[in-house]
Amino acid sequence: MVREGGRIVLGIESTAHTFGVGIASSSGEILANVRYVYKPREGGIHPREASQHHSRIAPKALKEALEHAGLRLRDLDGIAFSIGPGMGPCLRVGATIARALALKSGKPLIAVNHGVAHIEVGRLVTGCRDPVVLYVAGGNTLITGYLEGRYRIFGETLDIAAGNCLDVFGIKAGIGPMPAPEEYARRGGKFHPLPYRVKGMDVSFSGLLTAALKLLDKVRLEDLCLSITETVYSMLTETLERALAFAEKNEILLVGGLARSRRLREMIEAMAGLHNAEVYVVPPEYAGDNGAMIAWTGILQLMSGQVVEVEDSRIRPRYRIDEVEASWRRIGL
Ligand code: MG
Repeated sequence: MVREGGRIVLGIESTAHTFGVGIASSSGEILANVRYVYKPREGGIHPREASQHHSRIAPKALKEALEHAGLRLRDLDGIAFSIGPGMGPCLRVGATIARALALKSGKPLIAVNHGVAHIEVGRLVTGCRDPVVLYVAGGNTLITGYLEGRYRIFGETLDIAAGNCLDVFGIKAGIGPMPAPEEYARRGGKFHPLPYRVKGMDVSFSGLLTAALKLLDKVRLEDLCLSITETVYSMLTETLERALAFAEKNEILLVGGLARSRRLREMIEAMAGLHNAEVYVVPPEYAGDNGAMIAWTGILQLMSGQVVEVEDSRIRPRYRIDEVEASWRRIGL
């Protein structure tokens, strides 16, 4: 199934609500991508409850991934895991399992930055080469691109993530998180101006969320959904446009859970058309957190010698993507 001399890496994702196990090969095949998502009984993610979910489901997820790929532990060439950023208790589950598997199999341990993995699986499955990336999800909002050895952060949120803003709004409005607000927005007609905060290439959503919540019960919900989604997406599109010009690239890659948004994509495509840039969107199965993205980034790191000793594999809850030496990009991967 895998070419002679090819490598195979198993990747574990456990930064937040998802426990995922993926397996990837150096020829770019995703051999397994098993995901289990913790669903809080109410409100947001409770880190300890999520970590208990991950510990419970881990043996089953690992077994399913290996079975799906038709592989045994000894067939693997490396064990990768999300070292951060993310929630401490959740990260610890994935890290502990990865260390145990690496020690048991005697294969290298590969510590992967979760954000970099979203980007790399996006490059793999869409075929784009050197994009400006908009990484938007429940916990992250950043605009980045590869320049001189690293993924540089051109812009980011100064407070809450774009996905979080829309999820919290939807939950407080009683319709549930995304995609509900976007679905309601399609039936909206009247636009209510909300605070629009773009500072250079950075964005801020908390004032906008507060203002939108104050309008609940005062205006039609569909109109309010239209107003909040259009405002959030316009802010993202504007900053992305600035980054595109700054980095002088002609590809845009949209990754993270909010890459599933049809309307956001439409707006970005309209903007890209003005700059002769191509838009690539990660498909839904790789948009949310998943193990395949960790496995594939593990392959890239393994090929460029970026592995870690067990004693140096402490989790990094605040690990930023611009701290990562993207050594594989230097060798053209
Ligand atoms: Mg994520």
